[in-house]
Amino acid sequence: MVTDKEIAELIFPEVKESIEDLEKRFPLRNLPNGAEVTRFAPSPTGFLHTGSLFTSMICHKVAKDSGGIFYVRLEDTDTKREIQGSGETLLKQLHLFGIDPSEGYLGDKQIGEYGPYIQSERADIYKVVIKYLLENGKAYPCFCSQAELDDIRAKQEKAKIIPGYYGPFAKYRYLTNDERKERILKGDPYVIRFKSSGNHIHKIKVTDLVHGNFEIAENDMDIVIYKSDGLPTYHFAHVVDDHFMRTTTVIRGEEWIASLPIHLELFKTLNWEAPKYAHLPVIMKIGENGNKRKLSKRLDNEAAVSYFLQDGYPTEALVMYLMTIANSNFEEWIFEHHFEHMEEFKFSFDKMSLEGALFDMGKVNFFSKEILSKKTKYEIRDMALAFSKEYDEKLYNLIKRDEDYFMEIMNIEREKENPRKDYEKFGNLYEAISFFYKDLYEQSVKENPLVFNEKFDKETIKEVLSNIRDNLKLDQDEQSWFNNMKEIGSSLGFAADRKAFKANPEAFKGSVSDVAEMVRIALTTKRNSPNLYYVMQTLKKEECDRRFNSVISNL
Ligand code: GLU
Repeated sequence: MVTDKEIAELIFPEVKESIEDLEKRFPLRNLPNGAEVTRFAPSPTGFLHTGSLFTSMICHKVAKDSGGIFYVRLEDTDTKREIQGSGETLLKQLHLFGIDPSEGYLGDKQIGEYGPYIQSERADIYKVVIKYLLENGKAYPCFCSQAELDDIRAKQEKAKIIPGYYGPFAKYRYLTNDERKERILKGDPYVIRFKSSGNHIHKIKVTDLVHGNFEIAENDMDIVIYKSDGLPTYHFAHVVDDHFMRTTTVIRGEEWIASLPIHLELFKTLNWEAPKYAHLPVIMKIGENGNKRKLSKRLDNEAAVSYFLQDGYPTEALVMYLMTIANSNFEEWIFEHHFEHMEEFKFSFDKMSLEGALFDMGKVNFFSKEILSKKTKYEIRDMALAFSKEYDEKLYNLIKRDEDYFMEIMNIEREKENPRKDYEKFGNLYEAISFFYKDLYEQSVKENPLVFNEKFDKETIKEVLSNIRDNLKLDQDEQSWFNNMKEIGSSLGFAADRKAFKANPEAFKGSVSDVAEMVRIALTTKRNSPNLYYVMQTLKKEECDRRFNSVISNL
């Protein structure tokens, strides 16, 4: 009678190492008590999803705060879904968001003693473990064809029972070793399946750092662990990797809870201690029908982190926003800390909400404005150049015309105690600041004639603008300048403040804010702009006058 050992030898004659050898090759890590080893394990199947950024941010934070290790492992065993080069892109993008692994697959290289960190390079390691399972009757070669699988499924559907390859349906688990040997020698194609000893009517108790304690049906599926292409499946490979890479906490999306019983059974069968688990909530969005749904790659721009890069958001803003999803007390904390030093925040799994958070673009914009308002003009220039060099040629060329002038523009009401929050991203900066440039201002006026408040007739507007041109002095401080504007307004029949106007609207043409709006539109083409006093200082008297004249003569 053929033994399990002979079957194992027949399938993997080249495998000479044992699990003990692997235990020695990858010794326990020498880390202080409490240090967590976490990993981000992307598959190179496309762009970095915002949900994956969320996961990796937490992996990074947990490892860093505990003095542990955060590493990246590339899970590329599903070769059909692989997109060439996406692994490197993922790592580059993580870096832009300040997430730098200290070990593992780093895009252009691998660093660390627990590698290789690319699953397709670890076939020899997986084979050692599979051979062990075969030798011990915990795995078997399965010769089931697609037609047979379809047949099993059809029967299960008809009988309305749980679909899958398990128990009585796992027909090749009942082959004798003699039959197995014969078919292998004949060259019949096969995969290797794990032989489950569970039963789904039993429940197992699970502890999750986010979800707490809960019960879930035991696994009874004989899952495929080794495919006919010589590579393992995710379920099996990641268990082996998390064991030998000495991961202490597996942090991943909630969608993996359903297959947790498989993973726990594999750990148990191999006599390995399972890591701690933290399954993170999914990021949601209100869909077209008003219901919550997962952020979708296909439907939502904000599902891909590349969207935030292309639009020129400061990457810290997205990370800061994601931390508000991660911990309910973070928002208050970061307000108290003036949107700075978020690395000092103490993250905890207990404060993570179980419900999928709704993605809130408004909050991302809010954090962006706060963050950008705190940068110096030099930092803003550097960030704007880095962004525009890659994504916005027009902006890049504009800045390069005169970097000092660009910094002067961006420095309006910056570098002070309560800086203005005029900008949220670099993606619309060209449009926001182009009026500061003479030729672009002219082009804009030509293409889109100025729109003043229709409450005022042309004569009134002309009168206001020419009086401002002739009487408003720029070489005075902001308060005096504003008083000066009020005086000019009053002399033309405008109330000095809104209150006076509201109290007696019949007595005035409008208020000083109407005057300021006319000046603003004439000089900037817009209803909203940075502080008008500084806009005028930046443009200088001569250019302001030139614009007033041209607006007056074209009205
Ligand atoms: N490769 C899996 C994925 O991309 C990783 C899941 C895990 O973190 O264990 O979803």
